[in-house]
Amino acid sequence: MAAGEYVSVSSQRDAERADLNKERRELTEDPEGELLELTLIYEGRGLDRPLAEQVAQALSKHDALSAHVRDELGQGEQSAAKPVQAAIVSALAFAIGAAVPLFAVLIAPTSTRTVMLVSATLLALGVLGVVGARLGGARQSRAAMRVLAGGTAALLITAAVGKLVNTSGL
Ligand SMILES: [Zn+2]
Repeated sequence: MAAGEYVSVSSQRDAERADLNKERRELTEDPEGELLELTLIYEGRGLDRPLAEQVAQALSKHDALSAHVRDELGQGEQSAAKPVQAAIVSALAFAIGAAVPLFAVLIAPTSTRTVMLVSATLLALGVLGVVGARLGGARQSRAAMRVLAGGTAALLITAAVGKLVNTSGL
């Protein structure tokens, strides 16, 4: 799982790097065309033509490559892919995500085991979602919600299947 995460984020980073090199080459070979490209992007976002030209010229003078990377390719520093972090988080999430509910079941009295199991699992998932989002540079609340929703669905399905075959662990 962690290895898969590493590969997928790595290839994303390779793609971003290739785009960056292509953009750098285009800027040297055809600065006029690139300036026009940037102008059209800003015009498309709602600026009128003279203002779009002005903005494109100012940003190109300041740092043409980052203007193109940010506004044409949509890559920012925030989105720069981090494969090693993603793999570590994925492995940690797997280990902690499995350990927390196990521990909760071990220390909980029999009567509250189900409640403890479910709350511990959801809590662990929520925390890991936030940590993962922070390391990956993504929106934390959205990531936590996504992980929580997925975890809740998985728990419900597990419980339903358990009921169905009458060997429910929950
Ligand atoms: Zn460009």
